Amino acid sequence: MRPEILFPLFAPAHTLPGIGPRLEKLLERIAGPKVVDLLWHLPVGLIDRRSRPKITETRDGEIASMEVTVGLHVPPRTKRLPYRIHVSDETGEMQLVFFNARPDYLMRVLPEGARRIISGRIEFYQGAPQMTHPDHIVGPDELADMPLLEPIYPLTAGLPLKAVQKALRGALILPPELPEWQDDAWLKANRWQGWRASLMAAHEPQSAADLSPEAPARARLAYDELLANQLALGLVRLRMKKRPGRSVVGDGRLRRKVEAALPFALTGAQVRSLAEIDADMKASHRMLRLLQGDVGSGKTVVALLAMLNAVEAGFQAALMAPTEILTRQHFATLQPLCEAAGVRLALLTGREKGQQRENVLSATANGEVDILIGTHALFQKDVAFKALALAVVDEQHRFGVHQRLMLAEKGGAGTDVLVMTATPIPRTLTLTAYGDMDVSKLDEKPPGRKPVDTRAIPLDRLDQVVSGLGRALSTGAQVYWVCPLVEESDEVDAAAAEERYRHLQELFGDRVGLVHGRMKPADKDAVMARFAAGEIAILVATTVIEVGVNVPSATIMMIEHAERFGLAQLHQLRGRVGRGADKSSCLLLYQTPLGETAEARIKIMRETEDGFRIAEEDLRLRGAGELLGTRQSGLPTFRMADIETQKELLAAAHDDARLIIERDPELETERGKALRILLYLFERDEAIRYLRSG
Ligand code: ADP
Ligand code: MG
Repeated sequence: MRPEILFPLFAPAHTLPGIGPRLEKLLERIAGPKVVDLLWHLPVGLIDRRSRPKITETRDGEIASMEVTVGLHVPPRTKRLPYRIHVSDETGEMQLVFFNARPDYLMRVLPEGARRIISGRIEFYQGAPQMTHPDHIVGPDELADMPLLEPIYPLTAGLPLKAVQKALRGALILPPELPEWQDDAWLKANRWQGWRASLMAAHEPQSAADLSPEAPARARLAYDELLANQLALGLVRLRMKKRPGRSVVGDGRLRRKVEAALPFALTGAQVRSLAEIDADMKASHRMLRLLQGDVGSGKTVVALLAMLNAVEAGFQAALMAPTEILTRQHFATLQPLCEAAGVRLALLTGREKGQQRENVLSATANGEVDILIGTHALFQKDVAFKALALAVVDEQHRFGVHQRLMLAEKGGAGTDVLVMTATPIPRTLTLTAYGDMDVSKLDEKPPGRKPVDTRAIPLDRLDQVVSGLGRALSTGAQVYWVCPLVEESDEVDAAAAEERYRHLQELFGDRVGLVHGRMKPADKDAVMARFAAGEIAILVATTVIEVGVNVPSATIMMIEHAERFGLAQLHQLRGRVGRGADKSSCLLLYQTPLGETAEARIKIMRETEDGFRIAEEDLRLRGAGELLGTRQSGLPTFRMADIETQKELLAAAHDDARLIIERDPELETERGKALRILLYLFERDEAIRYLRSG
């Protein structure tokens, strides 16, 4: 349970003074629904009103605060023209300019003859200074009411800066003093203040330097966030490792049969990764291993052989994939191999219903199924295993940490966990997403892969591209044609894909097929099967084919509106070709003019096929939060820490968390209790559940 001291921070934003439902919605868009989300919404700029020039000393563009005497009001002759007010000081005269003015209001705040302090941006118009809509107008003795330094916050359409400032003024009253969770010596070494003081300082920048990530207040908050992340991961991992694992050692009889049935020999990287997995499974602690391998590096076979190890030892294994298509594809790939070895394979997705589902469930519970393959349907309560020894999670970035753990829990005592990632994740991100998982790398592609010839072509040459396609088809080529995610809506995407489908169908007839997220699952399967069998030559698709789909005979990848895709996505898509013996190509069709980032992405795609380099570049171009293009990535996003520029802080938080867990694994010391508050503050409640007295 969240400690009471934090309740005010987790209240909805509309409980703040002056925040109605409309503003709350806008604030939610930029920060989040709760007060604490606003607190993490740090300023990106600063308005400095401390400059107090005389009228003749003003410079074009500067923000100035000036004491003036109000002179003549000059109402406009027509509504379109501005209302002007002359003001003066002992050095000269200038004009204040108001569009759509309300004269009665201006008469009241700027009565002729009065002294006023005005503050706003100076603009020179026809050589003379003027100020349009001063930000502040106060009496000469009310200077104290005018903020001389104003934080600028990230905004969104319809949300004025003043509203965000006001919301934050309300929010910043609420944070209580919290017990210090950081190590004293570490605070001193960094010259950091306490949490509350740092939070206040971060929202009250005094200079541009205070806005930099290295500013002490911001660095401390970033460190808090990173420590919460690392500590949470560390606690989860500790709990998993502490669960006694079982020693699983197969005798190799099933593996030998399957390897004999494979049309290829394992690569060195596959052999090495398997040896690492075997050693983990044999050890009495629980395996928590990440198998990293670029698209097409051959993770599936490694997973199968690892699962066979469990089956040989008399246990069960499960393989979980993120989409229906991918799950069925895994099933189709593994089924003949398992059959050859006499291993019983079953499938469980959201689509298995009624009697069929009952049968799979009871066979799994009775141990009549050796390997169960499924989507997240595997998490469901009624799924029980007789003796699950190994859970493999494929293409994990679609799943959250919590879901991965839930599958492992199905095994009761000490199920080994192997997580496979297709998108190569940079080291820094691995650390934030998995903590200390052990890592095996498939850094060697199966032999015979040819580089994919990647080209970028503007969309206005579509006709040329299509006639080129006609020539390729006549030589028997198979083509993916990917239509973009227009918005995060299946419906709209499907419409774009359908339109392209009809267009291509007019030209190429029934050799064109279509898959998208709005189709009935069975129809999707049927189309995929026809494409795999070579009956369909052009498969028009939305990004449903992004993950894992394997049709080695396809050699051409067309990506329409490539500028709308993230780098990792483009790389994933391109990875669908170049899998067979024939030379493959990838055409990136883009809409001109290209934005700077889109251009950089396309350039990188043309330069390299190295997934790790692409992931690093992606991180650099887009920031960690967006690395995988969608919010459902399962990778943590940070509100204050920037793991690209604050790698050292992350490393320190990592070490710090490890030390804490070593010395105080249940967070029971004074600092431990404070650290619990930190975890709640950053909504890592999940980790606290793993503590004895959580
Ligand atoms: P991914 O790592 O993207 O999941 P897959 O497991 O789907 O890759 O493998 C991609 C293709 O490479 C498959 O057709 C698979 O049969 C093939 N493959 C896997 N290992 C080897 C190997 N050692 N030699 C040749 N082909 C292989
Ligand atoms: Mg795969």
